[in-house]
Amino acid sequence: MSTPIRSIMWFRRDLRVSDNPALLAAIAAGDEIVPVFILDRKLIDATGSKRLAYLGQSLRALDESLGNSLHVMVGDQVEVLKELMERYNATSVHISGEYEPYGAARDSRIEKGGIPLVRTGTPYAVAPGMVLKASDATPYKVFTPFYRGWCAHGWRKPAPSPKTIKRVMPTKKDRNFTDWQLPEGTSITATGEVAALARWKYFQKNGLDEYDSNRNLPGIDGTSKLSAHLKWGEIHPCTLLTFLGESKAHDTFRKEIAWREFYSDVLFNNPHTETEYYTPRFSQMRYNKPGAKFIAWKAGQTGFPVVDAAMRQLVQEGWMHNRTRMIVASFLVKDLHLEWQLGADFFKEHLVDFDVASNAHGWQWTAGSGTDASPYYRIFNPIEQGKRFDTKGDYIRKYVPELAHLSAEYIHEPWLYPDGYSKGYVKQIVDHGLERLESLARLQEIKSDKLPDPRA
Ligand SMILES: Cc1cc2nc3c(=O)[nH]c(=O)nc-3n(C[C@H](O)[C@H](O)[C@H](O)COP(=O)(O)OP(=O)(O)OC[C@H]3O[C@@H](n4cnc5c(N)ncnc54)[C@H](O)[C@@H]3O)c2cc1C
Repeated sequence: MSTPIRSIMWFRRDLRVSDNPALLAAIAAGDEIVPVFILDRKLIDATGSKRLAYLGQSLRALDESLGNSLHVMVGDQVEVLKELMERYNATSVHISGEYEPYGAARDSRIEKGGIPLVRTGTPYAVAPGMVLKASDATPYKVFTPFYRGWCAHGWRKPAPSPKTIKRVMPTKKDRNFTDWQLPEGTSITATGEVAALARWKYFQKNGLDEYDSNRNLPGIDGTSKLSAHLKWGEIHPCTLLTFLGESKAHDTFRKEIAWREFYSDVLFNNPHTETEYYTPRFSQMRYNKPGAKFIAWKAGQTGFPVVDAAMRQLVQEGWMHNRTRMIVASFLVKDLHLEWQLGADFFKEHLVDFDVASNAHGWQWTAGSGTDASPYYRIFNPIEQGKRFDTKGDYIRKYVPELAHLSAEYIHEPWLYPDGYSKGYVKQIVDHGLERLESLARLQEIKSDKLPDPRA
């Protein structure tokens, strides 16, 4: 019998079997595949405990769908891949392409280390860098025209699921699974491809057609909650897009998927904006130093009910609703006058769906320094936002038990109610009206006509 031809399938942000073009390419390249995940010490050290727990569970789920053949390896990627190639006489290493600064640099280091990588597909419907202005072939800087270009570019149909996967079984020492534990009092959603597809099915039936009207209401289950599944590649955006029709609700959902793609494109074209201001003059604004108020923000103890509910949701569940992400981000930057990177780092520590592009640019959008910059004078009023989007107060009641005894009328403004603070809720750490004026004054100082733009 001739020796089987083997290829390595190196999983990273594509922890699934269906709609996975890289896996199909690995299968097509030989007789057997060697499925591998390499634990990256550097990334693990920079990853919060809830996201690590998510990863640990997701790897178990992937392993199950691969018939317990996943090699979970520890060590330098070049050395691990070289050793596996030699051991199994493998002729190719298959991946889906990475575009974020860290992943792209790692892959090019591996190629320089002598391991050619075969890239098939990406974590996106349209790879970053592919949607360019027709007029001058430069990248888009504003979402709406990007969205039109992205739709015109189009995307592939979902890839078929492999019929059979012939795989090499690992040895005991290749099974370095780590069951990272969740911190006490926290919980995360179900992980893995099966859970992702089930949630998508559930959302198609119970949420998608009302998405347009419900997506801003943090107190109800009105959004897909697919962000962590998308982040880890347990489901691919093409699987979602192929189902969408032309109704307003479906188009709104398609647009949200496109925001993820837009931000990955913006970061690909501007890698420094992972940590630096997209609009440089914002780095010259006057900011406060983080102190007690920053600690109160992180702990959900600001005295602003919707802000506190959201921050507690983040810490308890590793996820926060999009509307409240905007509210707490605005509060940090415009009420506490702190730099967006401080908030983004805290999100990075706690989010199970942390995505370097969506996080950095979600923060920069709210701060006013990003693409499509929200008008500089847009300062979310945390009390009015609460009343408008959590009218009955259910979201606040769920996460802030000290306010659970209050009716919808008082829950957003406990200071108006004689019994408002009787269960120990904290007093407001700032006066929103005053901080709004302070923020406008600081923004006025960096208006483009007042400062030379450092890019000029
Ligand atoms: C300050 C801030 C930080 C953020 N950080 C992240 C992050 O680290 N990771 C992350 O995935 N999203 C981030 N977002 C975007 C958004 O809040 C989440 O994607 C969304 O809340 C996830 O919930 P969902 O899956 O139910 O979303 P849905 O409303 O069901 O949307 C479907 C999918 O579209 C994408 N999406 C939706 N809204 C946005 C958006 N505004 N920007 C980019 N993609 C979007 C997500 O992949 C999401 O899963 C951030 C937003 C803000 C304002």
